[in-house]
Amino acid sequence: MTDAAPLPPSRLFFQSRVRRPRMAKAEGVYVWDQQGRRYLDGSSGAMVSNIGHSDPRVLDAMRRQMEQGTFGYRLHFETEAAERLADMTCALAPEGFEKVFFVSGGSEAVEGAIKLARQWAWATEQRSRWKVISRTPSYHGSTLGALALSGYRPLTEPFEAMMRPMPKVPAPRAWLDGLPMDDPATGAHYAAMLEAKILEEGPETVLAFIQEPVGGASTGALVPPAGYMEAVREICTRHGVLLIHDEVMSGGGRTGRFWGGDNWNAAPDLIAVSKGYGAGYAPLGAVTAHDRIVQPVLASGGFPHGHTYAGNPLACAAGVAVLEVIEQDGLLANASRIGEVLKARLQALAQRFPFIGDVRGLGLLLAFEMVSDRETRAPLPKNLDAYERLVDLAYAEGLIVYSRRSRGTEGDHILVCPPMISTEAHVDEIIEKLTTALTRFAAEAGL
Ligand code: PLP
Repeated sequence: MTDAAPLPPSRLFFQSRVRRPRMAKAEGVYVWDQQGRRYLDGSSGAMVSNIGHSDPRVLDAMRRQMEQGTFGYRLHFETEAAERLADMTCALAPEGFEKVFFVSGGSEAVEGAIKLARQWAWATEQRSRWKVISRTPSYHGSTLGALALSGYRPLTEPFEAMMRPMPKVPAPRAWLDGLPMDDPATGAHYAAMLEAKILEEGPETVLAFIQEPVGGASTGALVPPAGYMEAVREICTRHGVLLIHDEVMSGGGRTGRFWGGDNWNAAPDLIAVSKGYGAGYAPLGAVTAHDRIVQPVLASGGFPHGHTYAGNPLACAAGVAVLEVIEQDGLLANASRIGEVLKARLQALAQRFPFIGDVRGLGLLLAFEMVSDRETRAPLPKNLDAYERLVDLAYAEGLIVYSRRSRGTEGDHILVCPPMISTEAHVDEIIEKLTTALTRFAAEAGL
């Protein structure tokens, strides 16, 4: 390891508050910078690198595809890679999902899902249905359509004049609201808010409800309370409202099931997926839907939507190999098993650090929320910027974790989501580094 030389000025728009070192190599759960420093990727990037970095099987599949061709425009050629990935995706999807529409990322997947839903309403003479209800907080993407669904004002506010406002309902944050997670009355309480919103808007104007089955960055691995998913499904069906699952983060196996929604018996009508689907090997995402949505659209002349790079064979070849690795290596089962181990260790940290208020999540989509008072769930003082400070302290230890404000403009949660190939030894390393970071944070914040 050598001392870090100062980085030359960058022409990139950096999202990060601070310049980070340049990456030199990535393998398995680790990433190395150009100074030879090793980081455990405890957030799989942005919950993307689900099967770990540089798996040789995926790299070989991509090399083979590159030798055959890296681009074949969909109006001119079919490709084996896209057809195979579509077959594999439908085999994993809920019953009746027979078609796939490929995209290159999560925002495109959500845009595609809402446009497909609207096209279905158009084709079935339900043209008054256009509103898509979503939850607060939520994040569904950065393009204007997906942003309009995102219940996170710090991101949406400057663009509100440019977007049609979409109705919102509270996310089922039972812990924050002081309600018991395992009481079906809690699930019914939040689902009733969705029904009230549908009635308030007029069911004949409501096209869809979109939600993340297990929440991602905006809610910090929010798991819905008992009864919620089933009640939401029933309400949507009763009012003719389509149910869209944004599986951009929860899909691809991280929760221990391939789809986050598979943890409940409440299949959606449409699914948007990305992140772990391409697992960081290529920009890839997809929209898939039940045939009762797709067939009327096809019969009405097709889906007038698309992106030039959609279905790119190199991305699809990577996707096929990623799904094969998940299957061959039993990574869904590993995500469940190691997720339980990691969650128990995070819960043990909460015994030691009283400012850890809630530990939540499923499989390896895990987070903890920090508070100044566990009883009242009052957030930490905003000026501590705990969500950023803890990320920096962990980074200094060689551990990457992911964070957000948990309540819009205040509150702090940290996502701990290592790759699905993680072992007990990796969990030990994560906990050791996180303990150091938390200890330093507690000391400097006087907690
Ligand atoms: N939906 C969810 C649930 C996400 O977490 C994200 C990204 O974090 C998106 C959509 C947007 O995906 P992308 O950044 O790939 O456009």
